[in-house]
Amino acid sequence: MSTFPKNLLEGYQNFLDGTYSQRSDRYKELALKGQNPETLVIACCDSRAAPEIVFDSGPGEIFVLRNVANLVPPYNAEGRYRSSVAAIEFAVVSLGVRHIVVMGHGRCGGVAAALDERRKALDEGDAIGHWISLLDPAIEAAAKGGESSSCDHAHDPGAGKEASEADLRRTAVERMSVSKSIGNLRTFPYVRDREESGALTLHGAWFDISEGVLWVYDPDNETFAPALER
Ligand SMILES: [Zn+2]
Repeated sequence: MSTFPKNLLEGYQNFLDGTYSQRSDRYKELALKGQNPETLVIACCDSRAAPEIVFDSGPGEIFVLRNVANLVPPYNAEGRYRSSVAAIEFAVVSLGVRHIVVMGHGRCGGVAAALDERRKALDEGDAIGHWISLLDPAIEAAAKGGESSSCDHAHDPGAGKEASEADLRRTAVERMSVSKSIGNLRTFPYVRDREESGALTLHGAWFDISEGVLWVYDPDNETFAPALER
């Protein structure tokens, strides 16, 4: 008897009956011609913030890189960060995406872990610890109260609870890390060249999972604002 998760098989059946049967021509076309997505979305692994669901994207529409806390390492980072760098290189250089969206989200466990005062000193086997140490510049900048860390109306308290000091701090770091990741993208020579020529545009966003609100980063004044009136 198969031990494959039953809920996944049920979901797959729904996909076959729904999305796949409605869009089978598109899937066949993509199989024959290859993918040509216009946008790379860099998002967290978190099960509550899937870009294809948030953006209601169809097959072939967005190229997605997901990692813990939606981080972009600096281009010249150590080898342990290279899988994310490889995905970015493939999207930009091989696929020629025209947009990169770094999307953070509320209640990010990766950010919460980086802020945890009980965080231990790094040892070689601590993959998550090494990875989330990439958040240190965002934690530092948020502590200094940069504009992009402003959390007015963005406390994502959930279930009607008041935002605690810890919630506000986490939100500030979640947002600051988006702008830091955009800064790190500009350390990639092929990203910088394409941005300067106008072939590529970088964007930041933050998804409030409790209210479903997408906040978009405004680089001119380093703040976030809701993407749409609701
Ligand atoms: Zn997360």
